[in-house]
Amino acid sequence: MTHLPELDGQIVLPERILPGRIAFDRRIRAVTARPDAPRRYILPGFIDGHVHGGDGADTMDGVAAIHRLSRFHLAHGTTTILPTTITRPWPDVMDALRAIADVCRTGVTDGPAIHGAHLEGPFVSPHKLGAQPPFAIAPSPDKVREAVETGIVRVVTLAPELEHAESAMQTFAEAGVRVSLGHMTADYDQAERAICTICAAGGTVGATHLFNAMSPIEGRRPGPVTALMCSDVAYAEMIFDTHHVHPATFRLASRIMGSRLLFVTDAMRGAGLPDGPSQLGGQDVTIRDGVVRLPGGSLAGSVLTLDVALRNAVESGGMSLPRAAGLVSFNAAQYLGLHDRGVLAVGRRADFVVMDERLRVQEVWVEGRRVA
Ligand SMILES: [Zn+2]
Repeated sequence: MTHLPELDGQIVLPERILPGRIAFDRRIRAVTARPDAPRRYILPGFIDGHVHGGDGADTMDGVAAIHRLSRFHLAHGTTTILPTTITRPWPDVMDALRAIADVCRTGVTDGPAIHGAHLEGPFVSPHKLGAQPPFAIAPSPDKVREAVETGIVRVVTLAPELEHAESAMQTFAEAGVRVSLGHMTADYDQAERAICTICAAGGTVGATHLFNAMSPIEGRRPGPVTALMCSDVAYAEMIFDTHHVHPATFRLASRIMGSRLLFVTDAMRGAGLPDGPSQLGGQDVTIRDGVVRLPGGSLAGSVLTLDVALRNAVESGGMSLPRAAGLVSFNAAQYLGLHDRGVLAVGRRADFVVMDERLRVQEVWVEGRRVA
């Protein structure tokens, strides 16, 4: 057998940490125990299914910007990424989808895998825009068809109470697009019906940044969050920068949803840049102490990276490292149907993040190549 590249360290598996060695080419070929392995951790590459930007670049700016933000997040451990659009006039959104398709075709040299696009907006509620600019529209059949025909949309954020939403959910689900309920005014019943519609069409249900831009849980008004958490089939994104969701709320969701909960960054262009003024979807925002706000004070995306989200889950969320690793890799892989990655096992892609004992990124590997 020819000599394969190897990595030694504390291998983070779904249920435990194994001191050992991984041999690989583009795929993992062997995982073996090795009691004297160094103390650094080896984790599966991270997967970010909702990310607008970073390092000054935004998906909506086009091809060069998508390359730039992808490389930025790669350096923080993200080896699979879904560049995410924002609510803008429809021609701008279509331009962004075509740019993502271009980058997907060519790939990003020494960058992460581009799995496709997350279409966040414009099919959202004008009453739950959060930081989305005011260009929300109903998911009319012609626009839904136009989006699906790009072949690049893997996830769509959709408010199920909108006109045409039912047929839109069916069309997206039948095309294999994950339908992520969010930026919505839907109540418990509407959310539950939407989950049924998507499942009946053979689709996969998600939720866009659970708890944010949707009604909360109340005793007499369970809201969409309860429908999603109790459904047994719905996945949910969470922005765990500890500003969008309290650590206790994270623990509650995690306890109920288990591996159906996944972390995303929802990062905007200011991620990785110093505090100060920035832009989101053409709106002025301010970044201070890791929090992004619109002039009115509401949260406007994040400057989170997945390595920080992982540390937050361990340090603020009280989670074990194997379970925290699942939130940034395995759970998202399951949601997105990426069964070739997300766990360190023989036959899977050789996508690795090597971290020191304080969970700081030391090395990133994509398909067996060290890229950061
Ligand atoms: Zn977003």
